[in-house]
Amino acid sequence: MDSFPFSKNDLIRMRNAKRITAITGAGISSESGIPTFRGEGGLWRNYRAEDLATPEAFAKNPDLVWEWYDWRREICANASPNPGHLTLAKWETLVPDFTLITQNVDGLHPRAGSKNLYQIHGNIFTARCLGCGNLTDIDPKKQREDSCSICRSKLRPHILWFGETYESGLLESCFKRTSSSDLILIIGTSANVSVPASMAKEGIRNGALSIEINPERTSLSNLVDYSLQGKSGEILPKLLDEIYK
Ligand code: NAD
Ligand code: ZN
Repeated sequence: MDSFPFSKNDLIRMRNAKRITAITGAGISSESGIPTFRGEGGLWRNYRAEDLATPEAFAKNPDLVWEWYDWRREICANASPNPGHLTLAKWETLVPDFTLITQNVDGLHPRAGSKNLYQIHGNIFTARCLGCGNLTDIDPKKQREDSCSICRSKLRPHILWFGETYESGLLESCFKRTSSSDLILIIGTSANVSVPASMAKEGIRNGALSIEINPERTSLSNLVDYSLQGKSGEILPKLLDEIYK
């Protein structure tokens, strides 16, 4: 992409936007070497994510599910935030009200410096007790604990699995943000997971200017004001320069 297709008026709206919400999915981390579920490298030992990231899979074979997360956590720990993550963290410092809602569990947004962040699908560096719900950090350099230090119940990954419901109040907060945004960015999500897509739609319905960044077209591409086709690590830094030049 050589130049942005924005009208002059929309560029002014972007520059003046005070309340911005960015919604990110696995695609923003692919340039950091973390595979998306559906892209190349998304399979582990021929299991699909849908076969492992479920409460049923964990009940049946917790060791297998943990092993998959151990493998993924190692990839995440060895990865670094890319210019896409870093640009969003910088953007947050330029406007009064910037919210980042991510489906990613890889921890790269907080490591890039994003502060006002909702990790709606959890975090791969956190374990949760099945008994008391206590959360503990998983140190990638140390042997992972199997049971809770408080009540000794089994630990599970602190991840929202397929078929599970969001923490109460979390979605309401996110919808509140998107529905009152001046500008919405939808980055690296296939929009198959309907919740982030409906958050974006809610904002669009309420008059936010909307920009999608994805190398492929998605179900949101026709709805947004601008669908920018390309890699987020390349487009986001240029976009920030274009808006605030
Ligand atoms: P997805 O795998 O369904 O879709 C990824 C999207 O990213 C695709 O539309 C693809 O075209 C796009 N993409 C690929 N490379 C890109 C790039 N360089 N720049 C911008 N976009 C790019 O992922 P999803 O929609 O986020 O949903 C899948 C679920 O998987 C989520 O619930 C998420 O929690 C989980 N997941 C997380 C991670 C992670 O934490 N990094 C990785 C894999 C899956
Ligand atoms: Zn416990």
